[in-house]
Amino acid sequence: MASIVSVVTGQLRHMPAGGLPHDIFALGIASKIRIDRNSTAMASSDFGRIVEAAPEAVLHPATPSDIAAFIRFSASSPAPFPVSPRGQGHSVRGQSLAPGGVVVDMPTLGRGHHSRINVSADYVDSGGEQLWIDILRATLEQGLAPRVWTDYLHITVGGTLSNAGIGGQAFRHGPQIANVEELDVVTGTGDMVTCSREKSSDLFFAALGGLGQFGVITRARIMLEQAPKRVRWVRLAYSDVAMFTRDQELLISKRASEARFDYVEGQVQLNMTLAEGPKSTPFFSEADINRLAGLASQSSSAAIYIMEVAMYYNDTTASYVDKKLEKILEQLSFVPGFVFTKDVRYVQFLDRVREEEEVLRSAGLWDVPHPWLNLFIPRSRILDFDTGVIKGLLGGTNPVGVILMYPMNTAKWDDRMTAMAPLAGEDMFYTVALLRSAVDASDLEILEGENEAVLSFCDKEGIECKQYLPHHKSEDGWKQHFGTRWSRIAELKAKFDPHAILSPGQRIFPSPH
Ligand code: FAD
Repeated sequence: MASIVSVVTGQLRHMPAGGLPHDIFALGIASKIRIDRNSTAMASSDFGRIVEAAPEAVLHPATPSDIAAFIRFSASSPAPFPVSPRGQGHSVRGQSLAPGGVVVDMPTLGRGHHSRINVSADYVDSGGEQLWIDILRATLEQGLAPRVWTDYLHITVGGTLSNAGIGGQAFRHGPQIANVEELDVVTGTGDMVTCSREKSSDLFFAALGGLGQFGVITRARIMLEQAPKRVRWVRLAYSDVAMFTRDQELLISKRASEARFDYVEGQVQLNMTLAEGPKSTPFFSEADINRLAGLASQSSSAAIYIMEVAMYYNDTTASYVDKKLEKILEQLSFVPGFVFTKDVRYVQFLDRVREEEEVLRSAGLWDVPHPWLNLFIPRSRILDFDTGVIKGLLGGTNPVGVILMYPMNTAKWDDRMTAMAPLAGEDMFYTVALLRSAVDASDLEILEGENEAVLSFCDKEGIECKQYLPHHKSEDGWKQHFGTRWSRIAELKAKFDPHAILSPGQRIFPSPH
């Protein structure tokens, strides 16, 4: 029996491999099951490059029915085995792996003859395996587009909807999961169910943000809006975090004037990174970086803050975009003169991280470990977090990567869905994403140590943070994550995946192997 080796921060752990029942190859879809090393190796790791675990096999489904037949087989076998859908494998902690089981290679679903992206007037029906960039291209042909985007578009619909799907438009429209009208889901018993807010709603709400625990999303109906043609893309520098957060909150609040931005995010730039990091970026020229480094060197703190905002426009509104922008900028308190503006096509704006990916790839800095930590922090504690973490704990190394910090409106999150927002009863919360890469083994150790220290800091200071794209090592961690909703989550798991077959890489429920 093959053994599976998991590599977590340099420590080797051996997990028993279960082996699959022999009669699996008598299934009608046997020709779509691969057990060769090339296939299993491809499904053994993820973007994080921290955890490795080989599956016994990989299923390449041609249709959702193939997935259903396969899951039914596992669920009815005397020894059910784990099954994990894998989109692009862009998780960072092995969430799409299936140690001792079978990975379902979702992208194969989209390689058939029929298009699995169908655009209507108000919505697009998309296969769960489709990439957001392909949805963008298809919808733009009709002058339409989804309303909320993740920063990176080369990830799948099923992968982001299993988490939440957040970005700079979420303050207005909620996360991507709040913009879905209907799903097709294959449950952990192999049933194919169409669900919505009205029909089989418990499965609909469970699957959205459901970390792959309740079923495989094979189709999502996603709301659309008229697409703009162009984007005025602006970055504003702040040396004072209180001004930075005050302005961000103003821009996402109902108090903001009619002339609002369509996208609001923000980044923290550690002074050290500005001084010693890249000389230019796809957005900032060398001269811009020098100015920002100068600003940072005058500031007494360890960081400066860059608000990133965008205003959409098209042919009819082009004449007033400058006026509108001017009017909003007058209300804000960035450092005078530190306004950086670009004017780009809508696609170029949405697909901006691809350009950064190319830069990192060519520098050999893309395929490296990514010990990312994403947190949701209650609004009332963001300045404490900034003092203790950004200005306090970080800075043991000078890593490649970014730190995002931006607020969202709590009311846009539907707490019937599985995704967790902070429950502190506040109208806004922040996402703080420590998206740092480890260039060598010592970096990884330092960054992992800093991540642990950040979580302990929040715990000690009573900051009720929630992990986004969560990773918990124990059932207690998950119970704490879901809080009072834990028993409901366990109930839904027992209903839709009674053998705990699905997405074992999340390590929420004990898997059959
Ligand atoms: P995978 O990693 O393949 O899968 C993730 C989980 O979902 C696994 O548990 C898997 O079993 C399950 N799953 C996959 N497909 C399905 C399906 N069809 N049905 C049910 N379960 C399924 N996220 C944001 O919200 N906002 C961002 O701005 C953002 N930016 C990112 C930038 C980069 C460069 C990267 C690498 C990631 C970013 N993410 C962001 C995180 C991303 O949304 C998640 O990692 C997402 O899971 C990736 O999708 P995937 O297709 O690679 O999923």
